[in-house]
Amino acid sequence: MNEFGVYIGRFQPFTNAHEEAVRFALSKVNNLIIVLGSASQARTIKNPWSSQERIAMIRACLSPAENIRVEFIEAKDYLYNDNLWITAVQTKIEALTNGSKNVILIGHRKDKSSFYLNLFPQWEFIETGDYAKHLDASYVRRLYFEKDLLDVKRFVPSPVFNVLKSSMMKDDVTPQKEFNELQEEYHHILNYRKLWETSPFPPTFVTVDAVVIKSGHILVVRRRATPGKGLFALPGGFLNQDEQVKDGAIRELKEETAIKLTKDELLTALRDKEVFDHPGRSLRGRTITHAFCFDLGHGPLPKVKGEDDADKAWWMPLRDVFANEEKFFEDHFHIINFFASKF
Ligand code: NAD
Repeated sequence: MNEFGVYIGRFQPFTNAHEEAVRFALSKVNNLIIVLGSASQARTIKNPWSSQERIAMIRACLSPAENIRVEFIEAKDYLYNDNLWITAVQTKIEALTNGSKNVILIGHRKDKSSFYLNLFPQWEFIETGDYAKHLDASYVRRLYFEKDLLDVKRFVPSPVFNVLKSSMMKDDVTPQKEFNELQEEYHHILNYRKLWETSPFPPTFVTVDAVVIKSGHILVVRRRATPGKGLFALPGGFLNQDEQVKDGAIRELKEETAIKLTKDELLTALRDKEVFDHPGRSLRGRTITHAFCFDLGHGPLPKVKGEDDADKAWWMPLRDVFANEEKFFEDHFHIINFFASKF
């Protein structure tokens, strides 16, 4: 028996395959540390359940004796920096294991998305094997949003089924508000993807975003519509056919925040630009964004007002940005973090 095992995953939701893997892990180690990935994110159709909900699902599947041997840690994503993610996971594991050298990593090299299992060479790796005939949590989420509860039941342990059912319906007839909102998003994205099904190649969309910094504040908006309705975001949007990316960013900034600065004033303040291209950054499909950072220096904050796709625009203190990662749309928190840590 090894002293500690590490099992990393999103468990959105915790399926029969995950349960088998946990049981296998408990047969190999005295203490199992389950790393809940993608923590502190806004609820999306890819990550519908919070860390606390996922912990409750998993604990409900384990016996009291098993529960005593299992600990959880939450790990936020660092979409554009695997080294920071590795460091955060390692630091938490070392703290929990008191720096023990008797640690193994357990998981299943499912496909390309399992690359992270190669990022911890200091821990011996043990492969669990493929369970439940390639059962995939994304398929279970699809059934959940289609309200196909009978099928959901086939793929998750019964305590998880109960959690999923109650996160979907308050009672036999009343859906939960959060489920309704996510289901609307699910259908929106499904329809969006359908529009491109007949295209000869999968599309790659180009968007633009403006990161405007002034006196320790960032100019942010609240999204008016699905996807990400109500989430905080950078002013931005799709590039028009007849413009260059810099012009698109300035246009979107003015359209969504009504900021009273001329194009020349903004160009003078342009400090940096970067492309953000994580393949999973948008659920609508492959979307590459060009972000432009405008540094307006210090002084009073110009008046702004939410318009067009934004129902609100305001200057958010950076301190509040860092405390509210889970309220941001897609990778916008990471984009702000990228520029804010440079200047
Ligand atoms: P997951 O819930 O899909 O999978 C968890 C584990 O279960 C994996 O080992 C997976 O291979 C295994 N599994 C899935 N189906 C199985 C089956 N049918 N039989 C046996 N095993 C099966 O979780 P995930 O998405 O792989 O989790 C990885 C987490 O690490 C994510 O949160 C990701 O964002 C995070 N991560 C972050 C960074 C970064 O921020 N830079 C980098 C790498 C990974």
